[in-house]
Amino acid sequence: MSRILITSALPYINGIKHLGNLAGSMLPADVWARFKRGQGHDVLYICATDEHGTPAELAAAAAGQDVRTYCDEQHQIQKQAGAAFNLSFDWFGRSSSDANRRLTQHFARVLEANGLMEERVDRMIYSVDDGRFLPDRYVEGTCPHCGHVGARGDQCDNCGRLLDPTDLIDPYSAVSGSRNLEVRDTRHLYLLQAGMADRIRAWVDSKDWSSLAKSIAYKHLDEGLIDRGMTRDLKWGVPVVGPDGGPRPGMEGKVFYVWFDAPIEYIAATEEWAEAKGGDWRSWWRTDEGADDVRYVQFMGKDNVAFHTVSFPATILGSEEPWKTVDTLKAFNWLNWYGGKFSTSQKRGVFMDQALELLPADYWRWHLTAYGPEGSDAAFTWEQFQSTTNKDLADVLGNFVNRIVKFAESKMDGVVPDGGAAGDLEARLEADLRAGIAEATEAFEALEFRKAAQAIRAVWVLGNEYLQVAAPWTALKTDRDAAAVGVRTGLNLVALFARLAAPIMPETATRIAASVGATDLSWPSADEPLLDVLPRGRPVTAQGVLFAKIEDAQVAEWSERFGGAS
Ligand code: ZN
Repeated sequence: MSRILITSALPYINGIKHLGNLAGSMLPADVWARFKRGQGHDVLYICATDEHGTPAELAAAAAGQDVRTYCDEQHQIQKQAGAAFNLSFDWFGRSSSDANRRLTQHFARVLEANGLMEERVDRMIYSVDDGRFLPDRYVEGTCPHCGHVGARGDQCDNCGRLLDPTDLIDPYSAVSGSRNLEVRDTRHLYLLQAGMADRIRAWVDSKDWSSLAKSIAYKHLDEGLIDRGMTRDLKWGVPVVGPDGGPRPGMEGKVFYVWFDAPIEYIAATEEWAEAKGGDWRSWWRTDEGADDVRYVQFMGKDNVAFHTVSFPATILGSEEPWKTVDTLKAFNWLNWYGGKFSTSQKRGVFMDQALELLPADYWRWHLTAYGPEGSDAAFTWEQFQSTTNKDLADVLGNFVNRIVKFAESKMDGVVPDGGAAGDLEARLEADLRAGIAEATEAFEALEFRKAAQAIRAVWVLGNEYLQVAAPWTALKTDRDAAAVGVRTGLNLVALFARLAAPIMPETATRIAASVGATDLSWPSADEPLLDVLPRGRPVTAQGVLFAKIEDAQVAEWSERFGGAS
């Protein structure tokens, strides 16, 4: 048994997340947490809302609320949405917590003591019409590298380069659209990353990450690291402190940049968890206090990789303190909506709360895992969702379970029948199952979710093929024992299928297992007994329809409601 720390990128506070956000970080992290718990490991899965920064301020203003009230409410909404999707966070924290304020200020002090932070007078963009300095992402303009119009001041969405807002050609305020911008002096703290490039590169070299994550990290290192401003002229955030921990002269009323404090919240949220649940957070994060044998796995969308492979490591390595750093980093591509992007403003795409108004969580969890944006971007379409759901879930899995359990109810006295010894057919099936389980396990171990899901589906198919051949409904007419072996084997398959489904579809897995009176949802190993596990004579009970087919009329209605291909 090993200890595994899992984090998924912290969802930003400004509104409930869409299915693309879910598919690229929180859902795979949850599936993997369940897989690892199912193998008996000690898993700690931590997430939180990322609450600071201008987007929170602006969203609060748009909602007519003060920013703290807004964040309180939105945190609850996201927490509930996560629970409704059965995301099994051990803790879902808040980057606005006291723990994060303390820890963020601690890192700043240590970085300064280590000579990695300094004050500079900056020339920043001030919007005269808005009466404020504009943070990076609230200046927009034309990307100097690729010519993309509408690039944000922190990063170009088209070519992916990190930007400084003063780099933008023809800049304007994203708050008001005003081009009445001036460059004014303002004092800020800088993290001296440029001098850390070799250290960070050596650290990246030593890591075992997905190729997507590694290539993004090297791309940013190859472009060259620049010293990065780590404070902002904002009210909402972690207050900047001086070396003594008190207010910093000349920088009163400024806060740390949200990208400085957000990843620190991974640690601080673990502290919040420990406070609430009585755990020992240091044994998960301090390598001098036991975290040496923790495996730390991060999940995130590709837009977050640079921050996790370069910026956050600069904080951690620069502290020269014995913090645990990420061992395995799994990055995801984009989930697109009919080839375009999800868009809140244009009402394109489905958001977490809306999805559950249409169908239970497991339908979504299966589709977004088995057909998610893993090796490349993936397009969500209602037609594909309908077709995969109807085939994989209704036909292959649901139908198998219902058919065999109902047959046992009506023809085998509603129990797991005896029937005597199994034969060659069952022996061959068992060998095939072992190979299939080994394949699914290997794919999960490699964090390859689509592959794992396909291997699981292939095992369900084996069960269907077995029942075709064993055909207990035919055998029953001539050989009751042979029919009983077929039904008994089929019911054991039901118990196995529930265990294989559990990481991806926890709710349905519980129902499937219940139909054969089983509660074991641990992940099966390829060498344990598989086909003669259920006690003979145990009652079985069909659970009703596990997965309803998605009808064409529903596809039409949902396309209309959410904006489809048109
Ligand atoms: Zn660009």
